[in-house]
Amino acid sequence: MNRRGHFEAEHEMFRNSFREFVRNEIAPHYEQWERAGVVPREIWKTAGSLGFLCTWADEAYGGAGCRDFRYDQIVAEEMGHTAGVAFGLHSTVVAPYLDRLGTEEQKRRLLPRAVKGEAILAIAMTEPAAGSDLAGIETHAELRGGSWVLNGSKTFVSNGINADVVIVAAKTDPINPRAIGLFLVESGMPGFDRGRKLEKLGYHAQDTAELFFRDVAISCANVLGDPRRGLEALKSLLVDERLIAACGSLALAHAAFDVTLPYVTERKAFGQRVADFQNTRWKLAEIQTELDVGQAFVDRCVVDLNAGALTPEAAAEAKLWTAELAGRATDACLQLFGGYGYMWEYPIARLYAAARVHRIWAGTSEIMKEIIGRSLVK
Ligand SMILES: Cc1cc2nc3c(=O)[nH]c(=O)nc-3n(C[C@H](O)[C@H](O)[C@H](O)COP(=O)(O)OP(=O)(O)OC[C@H]3O[C@@H](n4cnc5c(N)ncnc54)[C@H](O)[C@@H]3O)c2cc1C
Repeated sequence: MNRRGHFEAEHEMFRNSFREFVRNEIAPHYEQWERAGVVPREIWKTAGSLGFLCTWADEAYGGAGCRDFRYDQIVAEEMGHTAGVAFGLHSTVVAPYLDRLGTEEQKRRLLPRAVKGEAILAIAMTEPAAGSDLAGIETHAELRGGSWVLNGSKTFVSNGINADVVIVAAKTDPINPRAIGLFLVESGMPGFDRGRKLEKLGYHAQDTAELFFRDVAISCANVLGDPRRGLEALKSLLVDERLIAACGSLALAHAAFDVTLPYVTERKAFGQRVADFQNTRWKLAEIQTELDVGQAFVDRCVVDLNAGALTPEAAAEAKLWTAELAGRATDACLQLFGGYGYMWEYPIARLYAAARVHRIWAGTSEIMKEIIGRSLVK
């Protein structure tokens, strides 16, 4: 699809160098990282040293000061094929909390390390008994003698094993369930433990983990924003999170299409190329059309976000449409591979498994429909 006008020359330069980095530094090692269930910390430092993390961060904190979501979009697009190192989560989802809510001291202490890849970031909202219903979390923090004391547990935390700093959502008022605070929990804090590295259907190289907090003492220096108003902050930053998730879903669907087209033009059945069956051409046509339609909408959302005009409903639409498309596209593409599509050594199998979580994380498809639907029916 012609996206002329969406990107400028400097974006294309950034894309080319990031693509080169993925080709040289990630792709050759990716299978081994999948087997290990985690990526080495060094890859974060290499990405940081090349200027690929938190590109939006102000120069005062070591960033490039490019407050332009198109750079985040490019990272998500170029990661579509390897789908495994959670750069987007670190740079576009978690670090912006420091930027928007952090004190000057917190920013000076943490942002330069995040930009360099020396501090890997994670966010822990979900709990064993509460995911979609954020207000239902049970992890709580109590103010005792000038420090907050954190107790509870979290699950499904991406970067959970490697993370140096985790933003943890916790209840802060026993009689007001909507009073939630955000706390910066750092590696090595007494009472902070990591549980299992969870085995997942896909995204095997991503370290998704359970985290436990037992009487973790958190000084005021590690309270992020107003400790009673974290829910509002989470809701407003979820707009960015859903848009970057949409960029990732679309990239994944594109990747599925890109590996399928050459396969069906090579593979023969009944004396002709699989691509020559009408069914194949129609499937490819359907996917290509949906990719183009989705891309146009997502690009518009990116422009709106840059202008400060992206609504939660539009972000939810983008997330819903692209996550569902990633599911449809990877399923249809896998079918065109026949039995080979079911083999893990074929990238389409990995993409199929990876696509499944896109309808779940960053808010399920049902929750996206709720957000959109509630804005329609008052
Ligand atoms: C690989 C992976 C990585 C993740 N990374 C992170 C992370 O880094 N940090 C983090 O905090 N979380 C993370 N999550 C958690 C993710 O955001 C949650 O799994 C998701 O929000 C759904 O919550 P749940 O799993 O508790 O499902 P539930 O909330 O229990 O939902 C179960 C089902 O009920 C449906 N449902 C719930 N409420 C409604 C409703 N009101 N109307 C209609 N249907 C409803 C859901 O759509 C779903 O189908 C990750 C999850 C996965 C799988």
